[in-house]
Amino acid sequence: MKNSLKTYLKTAGKDYTSRSVNPPVVRASTILFKTMQELRAHQKKIKSGKNVEHWDYGRQGTQTTVQLQKLLKGMEEAHHVFLTPTGFAAVALSIMSICRPGDQIVISDGVYRPTQKITDDLLKEFNVETVWYNPNSFEDLKNKISKKTKLIYVENPGSNTFEMNDLGKIVSLAKKKNIFTAIDNTWATAYFFKPLKLGFDISITSATKYYSGHSDVMAGTVAVNKKVFKKVWWYNHVSGYRLSSDDAYLIIRGLRTLDIRLERHQENTKKIINFLKKQKKITKILYPYKTSSREFKLLKKYYSGASGLLSLIIKSKSKNSVYKFVNSLELFGIGYSWGGFESLAVYTDPVELGTRRYFKIKKNEHLVRLHVGLEDPNDLIRDIKKSLKFIK
Ligand SMILES: *Cc1c(COP(=O)(O)O)cnc(C)c1O
Repeated sequence: MKNSLKTYLKTAGKDYTSRSVNPPVVRASTILFKTMQELRAHQKKIKSGKNVEHWDYGRQGTQTTVQLQKLLKGMEEAHHVFLTPTGFAAVALSIMSICRPGDQIVISDGVYRPTQKITDDLLKEFNVETVWYNPNSFEDLKNKISKKTKLIYVENPGSNTFEMNDLGKIVSLAKKKNIFTAIDNTWATAYFFKPLKLGFDISITSATKYYSGHSDVMAGTVAVNKKVFKKVWWYNHVSGYRLSSDDAYLIIRGLRTLDIRLERHQENTKKIINFLKKQKKITKILYPYKTSSREFKLLKKYYSGASGLLSLIIKSKSKNSVYKFVNSLELFGIGYSWGGFESLAVYTDPVELGTRRYFKIKKNEHLVRLHVGLEDPNDLIRDIKKSLKFIK
């Protein structure tokens, strides 16, 4: 990539064959060939692994999904990028591509709750053992590695609780021990951090979040290096995942402004944290912002920026009053997902974090997750200030 990523996001994948600045949305199951010979020659090329440019059936892609794959391939600096219908399917594709009966997966305690279910519940039935490590301690991870470990799976920072891993150390350890590595990079995206460049084998993103940016489409991406390409290609082939062209088009459109949006999310979040940290009712802000903290140092070491998702720990004897705080926010919608243009708030019950071994919400503490959107931060601060009064 010669130009900066900002320019790349505006120029990549322009399709001069259609003469329009945007790629055509091609809806197709059947792909037509002039002769049987042409069909067979095409299939031969698909088998050679260069399947981005060649397809003989709609499940393998269209002109639209290929444009998105190419754009992401450049941004992630990947050997190949697979597209899935949701972010969670991208998680499933990654894990199921690597783990086989008798293997062990060593996984960060702070992962997205459905990811916990694939490993602890589903993989167990297939004789794959899951071992959980403390994301705040590289030593703990090191001690949990065994001869059976096939995959180290990380989500950074952790879902809802924002623990930070020392990613460079994890990659070095895995390389030394010949273990595969995967990371869920949805929070930062490849705009702020490129996992494959650091040495991860698999980089997962829920494109539903910042790539889309408009809360109107779901998709997932799995960027891989050459080492794992064949494994992921094969499982993708037998699992039947595909992304529709209409949805791929919306993700391409979102990516054009990814840089501008993420930088504004970051800026707004900084301003809001500056306000939040002075509020007595908020005992802790879960987000790598304190310059003296381990989390902030790890962020600076590996990331070029931070996004707009954080959690608050609120102290109160009355859960109802914390509900009232959330309910009375006018500019923060109550709802799941994040990464869109809009601000969101959601009270997170401990059960929604899944089983956590290294994080506990204490008595009379409450976790509220905020997504800081693209509204005027002064308006957002005024909204939070007014609503905090309801906490008893
Ligand atoms: C939302 C999310 C997912 C799942 O993405 P969907 O597109 O909602 O299926 C996976 N990982 C993380 C960290 C997420 O926040």
